[in-house]
Amino acid sequence: MALYADLHRHLGGSVVPRILWRYFKRHNQEMAQRFPKYPAFEEFYTRKRNTLDEYLELHTLVESVQTEQTLPYFIYRLIRGAYIFENLAYLELRYTPYLRTPEHLSQNQRIDEMAKIVQIVGKASQVHEYPIIISQILCMHSRLPYEVNKAIVELAANMGDYVCAIDVAGGDSHYGDRLDEFISLYQYARSLGLKTTGHLYETPQGCYPALLPYLMRIGHGIQIPLKYPELLPEIARSNQCLEVCPTTYLKTGTLEDLSELKVVFDRCFDAGVDIAICTDNAGLHNVRLPFEYENLLTQDVIDFKQLQACQDAAFRHAFAWPHKERPASLLTDLLKDNSPEKMLLSV
Ligand SMILES: [Zn+2]
Repeated sequence: MALYADLHRHLGGSVVPRILWRYFKRHNQEMAQRFPKYPAFEEFYTRKRNTLDEYLELHTLVESVQTEQTLPYFIYRLIRGAYIFENLAYLELRYTPYLRTPEHLSQNQRIDEMAKIVQIVGKASQVHEYPIIISQILCMHSRLPYEVNKAIVELAANMGDYVCAIDVAGGDSHYGDRLDEFISLYQYARSLGLKTTGHLYETPQGCYPALLPYLMRIGHGIQIPLKYPELLPEIARSNQCLEVCPTTYLKTGTLEDLSELKVVFDRCFDAGVDIAICTDNAGLHNVRLPFEYENLLTQDVIDFKQLQACQDAAFRHAFAWPHKERPASLLTDLLKDNSPEKMLLSV
């Protein structure tokens, strides 16, 4: 029996359109009037955008409703869906805690509020009836000042019970002017013992080799095999895993067709670089993890063997998976132990 791990999912993009539309209907008059019927909302929410920046604008819509009060509501529904429809055993959920704090507060007050948000997300993630192992990744953000990003790193280090790593998000074309700053933040994070991933090499404008050595996993990274395959041997030696999120590249206009990912997978497999297939924004795309897998198979981007290798890699590179093996192996042993033959033998 296969159970899956998703290593790259944003809290902001994890709300499926119907849940969000229902929420607006009950709590947001303006949106309720703008979208009285569901299909129009789904079309608006999930449609393809022209650029990564335009696509990321949509996150602000969800961030604005994911407050201290409403986070448990959305997280409960996220976990329920992930357990029932996606067979997830493990999920790393990422977000920028600062962007969930009240906007009217001062920067320092908002920094102080962040710990509460991490705690709320952590507590809400423990749902007894849907047992998935969930850990948080805190995202620094390319549009936030240094002080806030530094506080995010420190918060991650102080809340190890809930947080497994840090990330940088907000559009990889925006790091350029502040590259030294982000490198120093990652150095700081590593000095505190934190695990690291980062949105990098997602678009042709987001390729910064200087940042690579500080990342244990690479958020997307598809431009490496596409445009800089000479970097792959070093990535393999460093055991860095690519978090590839197929639907994202279509929604952001980074790729025209999923078939363009074939060269990404082929070159990574040839070079010995691991890939974990992830959803990024399963709600925003309305594409859940098993469908990401299926789409890659049906469009001949990968075969079943490669898919299983990617599924194994996801558990191997998971920052907070507590077992040596992936759950399939654990379950197989359990199911075999209870096979009718064995039970007969034991009578
Ligand atoms: Zn992402």
